[in-house]
Amino acid sequence: MKLLVVGAGLFGATVARERALKGDSVDVIEKRSHLAGNVFTEEVEGIQVHRYGAHIFHTSNQRVWEYINQFANFNRYTNEVIANYHGEIYNLPFNMNTFNQMWGVITPKEAKEKLAVQRSIMAGKKPQNLEEQAISLVGTDIYNKLIKDYTAKQWGRDPRELPAFIIRRLPVRLTYDNNYFNDLYQGIPIGGYTQIVEKMLDLPKINVHLRTDFLTNKDDYLRQYDQVIYTGMIDQFFDYQLGTLEYRSLRFETELLDVDNFQGNAVVNYTDSETPFTRIIEHKHFEFGAGNRGKTVITREYPTNWVKGDEPYYPVNNSENNQLFTKYRDLAQKTVPQVTFGGRLGLYRYYNMDQVITAALQFLNSSFGKNSKTLF
Ligand code: FAD
Ligand code: UDP
Repeated sequence: MKLLVVGAGLFGATVARERALKGDSVDVIEKRSHLAGNVFTEEVEGIQVHRYGAHIFHTSNQRVWEYINQFANFNRYTNEVIANYHGEIYNLPFNMNTFNQMWGVITPKEAKEKLAVQRSIMAGKKPQNLEEQAISLVGTDIYNKLIKDYTAKQWGRDPRELPAFIIRRLPVRLTYDNNYFNDLYQGIPIGGYTQIVEKMLDLPKINVHLRTDFLTNKDDYLRQYDQVIYTGMIDQFFDYQLGTLEYRSLRFETELLDVDNFQGNAVVNYTDSETPFTRIIEHKHFEFGAGNRGKTVITREYPTNWVKGDEPYYPVNNSENNQLFTKYRDLAQKTVPQVTFGGRLGLYRYYNMDQVITAALQFLNSSFGKNSKTLF
């Protein structure tokens, strides 16, 4: 079997590795100048910098945890995010610390009573959008200070026009627990993520070509290979012939500073509308201050409207876009049955890293080469 994998992110790397281990010859092409897709990290002054935004690995899937641990040792980092609203500091996700800081309540019973009043405008109603979902979960004060403006900045639209599931990513707890995730396993790979993909692809049966764009030679590639795994944008693959899917992009502004400790935490979210960025990442804190003393690297993250040519970081999974994706999926099955679309962009899903690996492993377990529907 002659296999072409387009994209050297986690999806492409997992499929390439597992097929090569089964004996296939695999060519991997990647249009960027480096491996690892959006999980790419690089060393600056002894600090691992997450070039495309903070990446914390977390999963409850033991098989995926063991899989990724083959390629790196993970530290015990636990994501505990700070929110800054006009200089007021709150813990995220929404937990007893947040409720204490917001309302002065001390016990879970007091918090429950306060939350019941705060949520009352949604009593008996089924949330239809992100705003209604947020108010049903944590009420109006928290919605107004910590969610409304951050979400509008992040997605470039009113929270009433966004799907409810986005805010359900965040836990709500009646315990004093600031862990951003509920998963069983969590950590940051010591030495960064890039080494993981390098090791995954370091097999004799795999050939990697960087700075190589599939779309510049699409017809030739389709002729040359028995099967193609495509992890780029599905609408771009078809030259947007059915319409353009919406994405959200980001601009990262990274600075090396001559200070030891800039903000005291890896992630600080700015939840007001006036601050133009959503968050500041201080990279050294992912590895407990590793790196040169006296220097730190920070990144401000500015959400932007995606236009053709920008990096498409987030799919915008509202019903209109999901319907258009379904049309592209049907077109793919009819016209290019030898191509399997995978990963965040190929499947147009707001996947985390572990979900991408799970999807790739599930795909590999299905009848590879016979059933390209499995991923959809
Ligand atoms: P990608 O990493 O996007 O890889 C696709 C690759 O394909 C890219 O390298 C691209 O250059 C290449 N490509 C595309 N088109 C072509 C073409 N035509 N020819 C050649 N190459 C092409 N997940 C977590 O679990 N935890 C987190 O904390 C977390 N934080 C995140 C923060 C941000 C800001 C973002 C944007 C995402 C975050 N994620 C996080 C999600 C995580 O980045 C993704 O789940 C994962 O990287 C997706 O892997 P992938 O292989 O599907 O896609
Ligand atoms: N969110 C928010 N305030 C915050 C952090 C998150 O309103 O301080 C909302 C926002 O809508 C965001 C969603 O919760 O898109 C999911 O947050 P998460 O941190 O999971 O976003 P990601 O890391 O994927 O950008």
